[in-house]
Amino acid sequence: MQMAERLSRLGTETAFAVSGEARAFAEAGNKVYPFHLGDINLKTPQNIIDAATRAMNDGKTGYCPNHGIPQLRQALAEEINATRGADYALENVAIQPGGKPTIGKLILTLINPGDEVLYPSPGFPIYESQIEFSGAKAVPYTFHEGETNFILDTVEIEKLITPRTRMIIYNDLQNPTAAESSEDEMGHIAELARRHDLYVLSDEAYFDVRFEGKSRSIVSFPGMLERTVILYTFSKKYAMTGWRLGGTIGPKEIIEVIATLNVNDESCTNHFIQYAGVEALQGDQSGAARILETLRERRDAAADILSSIQGFRCFHPHASFYLFPNATEALKNIGMDYEEFRKTALHETGVSFCTRQHFGRSLPHETEKYLRFAYSGIDVEDIKEGLGKLKAFVEG
Ligand code: PMP
Repeated sequence: MQMAERLSRLGTETAFAVSGEARAFAEAGNKVYPFHLGDINLKTPQNIIDAATRAMNDGKTGYCPNHGIPQLRQALAEEINATRGADYALENVAIQPGGKPTIGKLILTLINPGDEVLYPSPGFPIYESQIEFSGAKAVPYTFHEGETNFILDTVEIEKLITPRTRMIIYNDLQNPTAAESSEDEMGHIAELARRHDLYVLSDEAYFDVRFEGKSRSIVSFPGMLERTVILYTFSKKYAMTGWRLGGTIGPKEIIEVIATLNVNDESCTNHFIQYAGVEALQGDQSGAARILETLRERRDAAADILSSIQGFRCFHPHASFYLFPNATEALKNIGMDYEEFRKTALHETGVSFCTRQHFGRSLPHETEKYLRFAYSGIDVEDIKEGLGKLKAFVEG
């Protein structure tokens, strides 16, 4: 079949292929520990579910404004102002079916074919896919292993900037590394953006999945309000991954174009779910607090075991729900490459995980080997059992 030429540039989330293998292994009667997918096996708080049901019963079942319902746009602007020190109004918000749509829509809005966009690799694979699909050039920047956290080298990033660079995608509290910028580091990224007149897509998917310390947005730095667009999602904080609810927050001119893309793509985000979004932001927060506490227990259990495995080096990150151990030595000892190790570990232990290879193109000088474990979808008992088996496998 003859398909469009542009499809040769479309990527995907290759982690979904790992899901297929894990499912097949489970269907063959084996126990699987699903560390590969960043989904949450906890129920959305009841007050949010009730608000959606109420809205449905109240007849909020037809189309609604393409930008989103005004109540939710207002509530989200207030939430962002209160937590990011910004000064947004309702006109700065376009509601989306999830966090992900902001990525492709913003690239379509700001980037011309031949432009260059900086993005993190390892990083959420949709950045690379959407940049290249648009006909722009995807230019990866990477992280370095610091003492307690992955860090960015802004001198190195600046060398990647050319006269064609239009935007930098920045994901603090990162997937897959859980990297957290210091205030200095974030300030340097902001400074680069100002000096080179770049837009910033600030992917804040994990802003609220923070166990210690306080999250900060790059939009709070001087001169950043007019060049930053925030990706917001309800998916993680409220365990709403399958609801598909999020928002794009930024300068009004950009939001207007994004809303026109909404008209073209989905007309509007699911109407009654937006009332649940208002309840999520303004109603009882005890459900979200319980979700966070559960994730913290899982982080502690998973990080403790992973960092005890011979040949693994693993941080104890403050945010997100990922661990990204350096397993270079373990892989060398066991004599396997990424894929052989991943597949053998699944078949020997039932532990399913992703590797660095699932998160964007590798950079030429990369020598270290990393694995990614998402602990958001597994109870503590199973975390201990599964990772205990992995430890025995690696060390045995
Ligand atoms: N950004 C990052 C960094 C993510 O990890 C994810 C989801 N895994 C998204 C965006 C997309 O979020 P959503 O599921 O709400 O579309």
